[in-house]
Amino acid sequence: MHIEDQIVHYTSDELIRVSIAQTRRITETARQRHHLSPVACAALGRAMTGALLLAGDYKNHEGVSLKFAGDGPLGAVHVDAFDSNKVRGYIDNPTVDLPLKANGKLDVGAAVGQHGQLTVTRFTPEQMTYTSQADLVSGEIAEDLAYYLYTSEQIPSTISLGVLVDRDYTIAASGGFLVQALPGAKEEDLARVEANITQIGPITTYLKNHPDGEGLIDIILSGMHFKELFRKPAWWQCTCSRQRIENVLLSLRAQDKEELLQDPQVEMTCHYCGEKYVISHDELVTLFENAHKE
Ligand SMILES: [Zn+2]
Repeated sequence: MHIEDQIVHYTSDELIRVSIAQTRRITETARQRHHLSPVACAALGRAMTGALLLAGDYKNHEGVSLKFAGDGPLGAVHVDAFDSNKVRGYIDNPTVDLPLKANGKLDVGAAVGQHGQLTVTRFTPEQMTYTSQADLVSGEIAEDLAYYLYTSEQIPSTISLGVLVDRDYTIAASGGFLVQALPGAKEEDLARVEANITQIGPITTYLKNHPDGEGLIDIILSGMHFKELFRKPAWWQCTCSRQRIENVLLSLRAQDKEELLQDPQVEMTCHYCGEKYVISHDELVTLFENAHKE
């Protein structure tokens, strides 16, 4: 029995902030919608979890988009988190798979690629706040995000992300955590947290034994005084709609509209979520006529 996906934020008297995300359902939804291979599941699940952690790190209603553009066979990994608890994402080549690493782990680094760029865009519903870039470090996602946070936002962070794919290819566990030092945190407390984190071991192994991430916070902030700030349910959500698809059609050039009207119907698939929209010839005629009248 799994609990719902969620994101929980904690803060300690020692000025350390911890966010923990559980994303099994989100990653499973992505797997089904995009027919992801196991290594693609791991890459996208980690990236979506990372986006939720980064978005939740800021004020409510801020969102974050991540694009991992590496030189590996998956192509780019694209994710968007909204309101710090809704997320969507896709991969250019979702069915590419690779042999496991010698240690039996999915080879996310080779699939994403070790050379390339991570682009991070912070935004609010009204506007884009800023975009910035960092080189990929390993293509393993968590390391790339930590390097980005350190070099571009000057925030020392520890980030750990894991996805466990079951034998039947469903998602057994998905989640991760982000630890950040608030201004004024003492070196000795940071060293203590670092030591605590090493007790967790590989996150995927931890999640295998604790699929809902139970107990993580007690290990990370062991020996410290901490409290829960808030928790939010998290889920997969896309911003596409029939209205948006219609707006795209209306914005086409007259020549392209004419061409579409030759077809019995128009099919458009949202690349973020795989949702297919079908607009019949008659609906298309009505759509263009109504727009013309206005
Ligand atoms: Zn969509």
